[in-house]
Amino acid sequence: MFSRLRSRFLLLIACILVLPLGAQEAKRAKYVFLLIGDGMGVNQRYLAEQMLRYTSGDPKRQLVMNQLPVQGLTTTYSANSVITDSAAAGTALACGVKTNNGKIGVLPDGTAAVSIAEQAKQAGMRVGIITSVSIDHATPAVFYAHEGGRNSYYEIAASLPKSGFDFFGGGKSLGDQPNYRRNRPSVVDLATAKGYRLIDSLAGLQAATPGTPVWAYSPVVDGAAAIPYEIDKTEGIIPLADFATQGIRLLDNPNGFFVMIEGGRIDWACHVNDPMTAAIETQAFDRVVEIACAFQRQHPDDTLIVVTADHETGGMSFGSTFTGYAFHPEPLAAQTVSYEKLVGYASRYRKENTPYFDVSTELRQLLGLEVLNHWENELLRNALEMTKVAPADRHYDWAQLERYGKNEPLAVACLKIVSSRAGLGWGTFAHTGTPVQTSAIGVGAERFADLYDNTELCNRMRELMGLPKP
Ligand SMILES: [Zn+2]
Repeated sequence: MFSRLRSRFLLLIACILVLPLGAQEAKRAKYVFLLIGDGMGVNQRYLAEQMLRYTSGDPKRQLVMNQLPVQGLTTTYSANSVITDSAAAGTALACGVKTNNGKIGVLPDGTAAVSIAEQAKQAGMRVGIITSVSIDHATPAVFYAHEGGRNSYYEIAASLPKSGFDFFGGGKSLGDQPNYRRNRPSVVDLATAKGYRLIDSLAGLQAATPGTPVWAYSPVVDGAAAIPYEIDKTEGIIPLADFATQGIRLLDNPNGFFVMIEGGRIDWACHVNDPMTAAIETQAFDRVVEIACAFQRQHPDDTLIVVTADHETGGMSFGSTFTGYAFHPEPLAAQTVSYEKLVGYASRYRKENTPYFDVSTELRQLLGLEVLNHWENELLRNALEMTKVAPADRHYDWAQLERYGKNEPLAVACLKIVSSRAGLGWGTFAHTGTPVQTSAIGVGAERFADLYDNTELCNRMRELMGLPKP
């Protein structure tokens, strides 16, 4: 009797000891989303949210990414600079290693690093890479290519079919353009030979069935093979959100998937200090976060979503000399065209030698500015003079270089007026070294709640996916 009681007691103790271990056994992240806003610093997110509140009339409205339960901060420095470029930052996020600026999926000495996407594919998961810029641009490239220089677009694009990844979507290939390809075989032909189905319409994408690898791109792209800015409402594009929806549908399978989706043009807008274009691109990227979250709600026990940025661009700040402590969303909401469109107008003014009065009248209409004050008129007049000089013949003094960078002076001047009226400041036309905000939800999301490096972000995702650190 006593021994039976004792054995029951021991069994109970054993259960108490073992059960919590069993209950704590880490769940594997089977459906994994890595969502990267290129150049999307804390203030880019904050501006997109402020503008969402203003345009929706709901003062409490939040971006979906800002509502995720876990928020952390990520450092972005590269191996050779506090200020990273997208190649080094992407390599850190994709491969978990530091490299020098400009390098794609390789260590500083050129040795290839293994990406989390390549490991996921090897482990039997499906893999997708989606971006609003060209598919061979630095951020998407680091997941499937290994090149010493980010501008080797053809070589990068030629690695795409070799990856065997299941879905590529978004912009076209820059490397396949004649100036990069030269006399080498078309990347489209290389992909077809490897069994990829090439799709360039939304209907075609919607009709695609899982199983065959797909490379889908927007039928309408700009000169850099990227999907045009949302603010410009270009006809005939496939928006990033549609690539996300269709990509997820094609990737979904019982062995799980890893998908990287990049909002690539937030960075491009911030490189020219274009406030509302950046805000709208960030809002478009947030719709992708929303789509991922809808999937997560259906698969709450197996899904991990991590939203981050590779770096901040532009040194955007809230508060300007002219507005003091005020922020005015109205001049931002009135902006209806991107920097890129303004460059088109500037070229025409140069070609037609348009007088200042006509220029300022047209630009005021485009930007929703009723009257220009003395300083704004001076700025536009000075910029127009520079714009009328052919780009190759321009000589900048220090002040002009600080004001316009090497961008189109008139277009930058317009956006400077909008930013300054709104109460936004900009520190640079390049990247900054400030840490970025990372948000997460799902399996193991709590691992992303502190301050950590971008390499660590990759390695924590690896652990949660059950992948080794190579
Ligand atoms: Zn950039």
